[in-house]
Amino acid sequence: MYRTHTCGELSLANINKQVTLAGWIQTVRKFGSITFVDLRDRYGITQLLFGEELNKQLDETALGREFVLQVKGIVSERTNKNPNLSTGDIEIKVSSFSVLNKSVTPPFTIQDDTDGGDDLRMKFRYLDLRRNAVKKNMELRYAVNRAARNYLHENNFMDIETPFLIKSTPEGARDFVVPSRMNSGQFYALPQSPQTFKQLLMVSGYDRYYQVVKCFRDEDLRADRQPEFTQIDCEMSFVEQEDILKMFEGMIRHIFLSVKNINYTDKIDVMTWEDAMWNYGNDKPDIRFGMKIANLKTAFKKDGIQARGELINDAGFAVFDNAETVVAIAVPGAAAYSRKQLDELTDWVKRPQIGMQGLVNIRYNIDGTYKSSVDKFYNEEKLKQIAAFCHANPGDLILILAGKEEKTRKAMSELRLELGEKLGFRKNNEFKLLWVVDFPLFEYSEEDNRWVARHHPFTSPKPAHIEVMINNDPVIHNAAEYLKHPYADIKANAYDMVLNGNEIGGGSIRIFQRDLQEKMFTALGMSQEEALHKFGFLLGAFEYGAPPHGGIAFGFDRLCAILGGSESIRDFIAFPKNNSGRDVMLDAPSTIDDKQLKELSISIDKKSPATN
Ligand code: ASP
Repeated sequence: MYRTHTCGELSLANINKQVTLAGWIQTVRKFGSITFVDLRDRYGITQLLFGEELNKQLDETALGREFVLQVKGIVSERTNKNPNLSTGDIEIKVSSFSVLNKSVTPPFTIQDDTDGGDDLRMKFRYLDLRRNAVKKNMELRYAVNRAARNYLHENNFMDIETPFLIKSTPEGARDFVVPSRMNSGQFYALPQSPQTFKQLLMVSGYDRYYQVVKCFRDEDLRADRQPEFTQIDCEMSFVEQEDILKMFEGMIRHIFLSVKNINYTDKIDVMTWEDAMWNYGNDKPDIRFGMKIANLKTAFKKDGIQARGELINDAGFAVFDNAETVVAIAVPGAAAYSRKQLDELTDWVKRPQIGMQGLVNIRYNIDGTYKSSVDKFYNEEKLKQIAAFCHANPGDLILILAGKEEKTRKAMSELRLELGEKLGFRKNNEFKLLWVVDFPLFEYSEEDNRWVARHHPFTSPKPAHIEVMINNDPVIHNAAEYLKHPYADIKANAYDMVLNGNEIGGGSIRIFQRDLQEKMFTALGMSQEEALHKFGFLLGAFEYGAPPHGGIAFGFDRLCAILGGSESIRDFIAFPKNNSGRDVMLDAPSTIDDKQLKELSISIDKKSPATN
């Protein structure tokens, strides 16, 4: 037997017990004639004591870091206890030992605060995974997985696997493709998600489906995206939006309770997309803190109404007078910011990622006076009115951005988050959930002068908007006025779950009638032949009694990262890719040999960088 116990379980209750342990050597400390070794495995660290009689043997063997060691010995009480270690009250008085395997010196220390940089740790990920910090993340991931499965199982969901080698089902991203040897010149696509399969399973009568499943999207990797990632993918039949919200609120509450021991009893608010954009400038607002946007002037319409800027226009300040949009936030207690701090904020919004020209500020001092960078144009009375409009309190700093609608709103959203972070409003041990609903069904593609699906083409319009879609021609005759097209106002029967400013899940009630689905494909600029070629299987299935259905998918990696209090999903994936989509450990992707290429009837363009 290699071991009787793990390195994490022995305590004073086991005193005088004869045990056998096996694990990796964390440290070796020699003190004269005795030697201490910390032995580590997945479960913890146990101190070993090699007495005088073994020391000679040790001199010959020369134990090193990360050697795999087996020891036999007696559990003894430590004189020098370590309260930070679960096994810190005991040590093993070693009677015999055996080196099961040696190790070369690892390229970085296997410790919580390692000396290894990111690249090095990824190259030797199997060593990185030995580190306690990474192991904790893997454990959390497994706990979330288990909790989700338990909940879904209890609620009658069935885990059904769907294929990876499929036909391209566009969901907005580029497909990864796989050449078929047996069907020369033809390709499979890897699923961007199992979307159409789960809908087909509804047609088949499996009314509650789930899968913890890999999805593949060949996107340019913005920060913290992975080309392959995992979803908790779910679908239900005979449901409306409220049913889905209720079911998956239940799931997330269950995950909070079982993984974090958090009894999340707060009501989960449901916010419309318009409200989210209006108040926070983005569709996944972090509502752990206020600092809502004050719309001094905007091109964005909420409930069909637009803020026209009476308060600030015509003061001779061209930046505001001529801007499409002017938005503000009141930053609590920041009126006391120094000149330098204000300059830093201005530089921050001028960075290329944000791209604004400048930042206007109004200090609403604690004594009730005002001081502003635009005093010249707005008198005290005006500043007072603006402050009241922004719901500012004495001591607050009002920050104002002006420019084109989309860019300015986005910039303000970023600035709000940045300040929220700076002011300590975004604590990663505080969780706030939110539903965002009523997204636009379509987005306008300037490049193609047509509509594209904002979620995916299988999403149903809100019931009240179905007629608008059916009765109007999707063609956009006047690109400049696309916002006036009736399609611009059609809302989707879709919902996102947002946690601390991150979209952790999204889904929709689906179209389940062939004619409406065909209309949708037409709206997206697809010819009938193209729709049949790409989605004939789904359109066909809808003719055989497709039930009303809807679903949702959760970004499993992201959910784990947030619950683990981390910014990075990579920390929660055993073998992640880097920002260029490479696995630096495997050195993949890589070229393949000529024989393989020939079998696949593929020839490589010699100008391609990989073959240089
Ligand atoms: N398949 C969708 C996605 O991956 C989720 C859904 O609509 O259920 O975003």
